[in-house]
Amino acid sequence: MGENNEILEAVLAEFGKLAAIPRQSGHEQAVSDFLRDYLSEAGFRVVQDEVGNIIADAPATAGLEKAPLTILQGHMDMVCVAEEGYDYDPQRDAIKLLRDEKYLQAEGTSLGADDGIGVAEGLYLLKNGDKFPHGPLRLIVTVDEERGMTGAIHLDKKYLEDAAFLINCDSENWDELTVGSAGNVTINFERELQPVLPTLPHAFHIGLRGLLGGHSGERIGDGRGNALRTMALALLALQKKGRTELASFIGGKARNAIPRFARAVLVTELSQADVQAVLEEELQNFLEDYGGVDPGAEFTVQETEMPAQVLQGEETRQLLRLLTLLHTGVYAMSPVNPGLVETSANIGMMEMTAREVRVQFLPRSAIDQKVREFSLQAEELAALTGFKAVIGTPSPGWKENKDSRLAKIMAETFAEQNGKPMKVETIHAGLECGWHFQKNPRLDIVSIGVTTTDIHSPREKLELATVEPQVRLIMASLGKIAKL
Ligand SMILES: [Zn+2]
Repeated sequence: MGENNEILEAVLAEFGKLAAIPRQSGHEQAVSDFLRDYLSEAGFRVVQDEVGNIIADAPATAGLEKAPLTILQGHMDMVCVAEEGYDYDPQRDAIKLLRDEKYLQAEGTSLGADDGIGVAEGLYLLKNGDKFPHGPLRLIVTVDEERGMTGAIHLDKKYLEDAAFLINCDSENWDELTVGSAGNVTINFERELQPVLPTLPHAFHIGLRGLLGGHSGERIGDGRGNALRTMALALLALQKKGRTELASFIGGKARNAIPRFARAVLVTELSQADVQAVLEEELQNFLEDYGGVDPGAEFTVQETEMPAQVLQGEETRQLLRLLTLLHTGVYAMSPVNPGLVETSANIGMMEMTAREVRVQFLPRSAIDQKVREFSLQAEELAALTGFKAVIGTPSPGWKENKDSRLAKIMAETFAEQNGKPMKVETIHAGLECGWHFQKNPRLDIVSIGVTTTDIHSPREKLELATVEPQVRLIMASLGKIAKL
């Protein structure tokens, strides 16, 4: 027990150093410099590349120099979110850690265990390399995973080409071994608006709230409702009931989150009772579709001040056409992995100012060609609806390797150490492993992680009891790799 606690305490000490440095995605200079200096002072050969990625090489145990090179990999950036009203400047403030018997959390903010704990494990393993046998090791810590994986995209492939194995430490359950992930592409539909004066007598604020939402890579298969789609259908129904003009329409928080809310301001000839009746019917339609999994949805209607401007009729029609025709939700289930979503898409977020509107859309697929097809469809649909489709760099999928020696070693080691099998799975979310795989398809890759819950939220929690078993799993696996 003494030794177990020693590992946990030492890894948490490394994590504490990271938590003290603000490291929001896109603002990693300080943490990247810290890692460079910290690892150099500990005696490792360190490279800080032009985007801030850190690559640190550690020598093998004496006599094991010829063993295959293994990479440990994590990302240094984090999603910074705070509870409503909590005073937090993500570019200046440290994360304040709260610890009890079972969990580590942050006061008022996300914890950044995603992926600070993965990086902390890597630091611990390098610094304690004299405690277990291993071949040559390399720690790669990327920047900007959460926003666009630009660290992984820019990582020079020479750092991947001389390695045989890569253990990514950015997953969320200590007893799961991830062996494949989906690709995706960010698509923004944008158009300029030329608003006009409202001509109808009543103005209403319409809200839709109470949907469950969730990460679009993890929860899309649960059949939850999409607030932006649902609001678009409600606005269409209102237009059929009587003349209406749209002054604003927004909703959702991120391209990769199923939107939980939407809000619109409408100018109309309809009375409040008419509007309420239509929305009541739309809610019943919604519940028929999604009520089993998403029962908390509700519409609200409030009379509001007459807006200064509204969209032109054609602009509104085309916007609602886009939001109705875009696919959102599961598109296809995997024919090879039962129960796994193969292809999906998410209308994630809509922003509107007086001058422009932007809809963020994120298709995902285990098959890269399906992602390309969604991009082509997006361009066609944009052309039909007066929008411009701005298509990001597609993130490649990471294809499962059925002959992975690394997956076999780690699953066996887990079973030996814990007396139960490790779950081996392919996921629908994206991982940096897709980029590593694209740069070196011969690289044998797995992804693991300490158990964390509610990542990317102020409720993010780390389960302390899973840290030590995971470090032991990596140590023992590295020992077996060294004997290959
Ligand atoms: Zn992460």
